[in-house]
Amino acid sequence: MGQVLDFHPVENIAPPAEVTLEDILPAQPRLLMGAGPVPVPSEVAAANAVVINHLGETMAAVTDRVREMSRYVFQTRTRHILGVAGPASAAMEMAITNLVWPGRVLVCVRNGIFSGRFAEMAQRVGARCHIVDVTAGSAADPVEVERAILAHGADVVTLVQGETSNTVWNHSLEQICQLARRLKVLTVVDAVCTLSTMPLPMDYWGVDVVVTGGQKGLSSVPGVSLIAFSNAAWDIIERRPSRSTHWCLDALLAEEFWDRKGYHYTAPVSGVLALHEALRLICRETLPVRFQRHSLSSRCLQMAVQAMGLNLLVSPRDRLNSVVGIVMPKGARAHAILDRMAHHHGVEASGAFGLNAIRIGQMGEQCRPHNTWKAVGALGLSLREAGFEVDLDEAWDVFESSQKVPQPGPSSCGA
Ligand SMILES: *Cc1c(COP(=O)(O)O)cnc(C)c1O
Repeated sequence: MGQVLDFHPVENIAPPAEVTLEDILPAQPRLLMGAGPVPVPSEVAAANAVVINHLGETMAAVTDRVREMSRYVFQTRTRHILGVAGPASAAMEMAITNLVWPGRVLVCVRNGIFSGRFAEMAQRVGARCHIVDVTAGSAADPVEVERAILAHGADVVTLVQGETSNTVWNHSLEQICQLARRLKVLTVVDAVCTLSTMPLPMDYWGVDVVVTGGQKGLSSVPGVSLIAFSNAAWDIIERRPSRSTHWCLDALLAEEFWDRKGYHYTAPVSGVLALHEALRLICRETLPVRFQRHSLSSRCLQMAVQAMGLNLLVSPRDRLNSVVGIVMPKGARAHAILDRMAHHHGVEASGAFGLNAIRIGQMGEQCRPHNTWKAVGALGLSLREAGFEVDLDEAWDVFESSQKVPQPGPSSCGA
């Protein structure tokens, strides 16, 4: 005999009318050419549809491979490389909540909203935060960072490799990480939009913590992120005066799953399988080839957009390749143009947090000539339809001819 279900639905809480995803999603999928998430390769999409047990030998084999391939992508030998269930911000918060506690001193190099997030997180766990504000549109200055470290007696310095929000590239990252190491200060680097799109050799540059998300440079799905800790950083975590206040983000508990194959929480298995495929494709392509593909693709995009008659947000020296900011001509409103790009031309690009600019991504699968050109074309046509004069023919000529030049141009990111 089954149990008698004595269920009294509350009046007016009936199931809503059924709406299928087909009703919600655009009839033609839009090409994701914004600041993330980015299109995923078919292998990643297929893996993301699979669910397996989160514990046991199959999952252990997957996580071992994810760690091994990640070591190549991060260019590190560290044992302490972990996945994180959550957005890139969760990986950033894992770095902060494990390395910082009340009384610890943190210097946050703030180029924009993403790099500034480290300070917001550190303040919440009681750190003494000092912010080095970098002039909008330019890269961090190692001299200023060193001065702030010394003036405040920093324990940790945080910074971003590419500030997605305003498309600035911190090209002195290596120098800053090395001076921090000399001063015995830990570095935490946000490489969310840049990892695997440009060089960031963690061990060689002496970086202590590198964080990245799934949905940008790696071209996987959002929701599973990666973090790598140096031995020096791990040492600090093991010798903390008290346990981390954040149970899910406790690196020592996370290592129980990622290293010792025990239970911490149920890992997002589908996302981990997707990440496995994304990493496998990066390892197959190899980093030098991938860096070159990104550098070339972004340069073609930048040159085509300029040939159309538009200006870029950041000057060549400090310009990020992974996300390109394009200034709207006088009178054009970025949001109206973005709307038109999406609805009339099937291409999603991004706004720029209040600046009258559009950001086009150049991460992973976005860096394929057909995708990049589709974004340039959609931008040009949308501007033209809105009554602005742009030279699309010239843009195409430049785009096509620059595909053939193998050497990095003025704004290559040191690839
Ligand atoms: C997107 C991004 C983040 C935040 O990633 P979420 O997955 O949205 O948390 C942080 N830093 C940089 C540089 C980014 O581009």
